[in-house]
Amino acid sequence: MSGVSRDPAWRKRAESPAEESSAAAPDSSRTPVEGPMTIPLTPVDALAAVRADIGDCTRCKLHLLGRTQVVFGVGNPSADLMFVGEAPGADEDVQGIPFVGRAGQLLTDIIEKGLKMPRSEVYIANVIKCRPPQNRNPEPDEIETCEPFLFRQIDVIKPKVIVALGKFGAQTLLRTLEPISRLRGRVFEYRGSKLIPTFHPAYLLRNPSSKREVWEDMKLVRKLLTDS
Ligand code: URA
Repeated sequence: MSGVSRDPAWRKRAESPAEESSAAAPDSSRTPVEGPMTIPLTPVDALAAVRADIGDCTRCKLHLLGRTQVVFGVGNPSADLMFVGEAPGADEDVQGIPFVGRAGQLLTDIIEKGLKMPRSEVYIANVIKCRPPQNRNPEPDEIETCEPFLFRQIDVIKPKVIVALGKFGAQTLLRTLEPISRLRGRVFEYRGSKLIPTFHPAYLLRNPSSKREVWEDMKLVRKLLTDS
């Protein structure tokens, strides 16, 4: 891999050529200095690099509390649409794939029957990559340790639209304590994407009447995907 940078800083450099060139512009007599060539990674390779950095993670206490494996994310590394949940549950912990249990089946229906997209076309990840014991809420130190990897996933994928699933995903990403009932249905600017909070599929299993609001939110998602 010589000449290929795994340093995430390449993305920043590649994205702000104007800044770089205007900084160099005043002194036109300078000879450009040749450095090692930096080849941007493909989204597939960049995500693989994030996954490799996580490794068999022992950064927070969840690795001692019964998790089977890290549940990184699944789907299209160049997806226009990304879903962000809370943390893996029991089924996800066993299979190593987000949203494969009952809530996951409902999410699949929302994507495939509601949005009329194959699940494989979107990307699905969680704020926390390891299952908390008894599916308890993730704790602040666990979030702080894990969320940089989600941010790196988002920065690689650069989705047009992110759907934050449930209070936990939405409040964590938006750094707010506003209730999900007030956040949902609104569009937020987030790391270059449009972010729409909606109810978590696990909540919908307990409160099926809220599917109506989620359907409204998915219509908004469709519109944003079509318009942008
Ligand atoms: N709930 C989540 O938030 N994430 C999963 O992966 C499964 C259930």
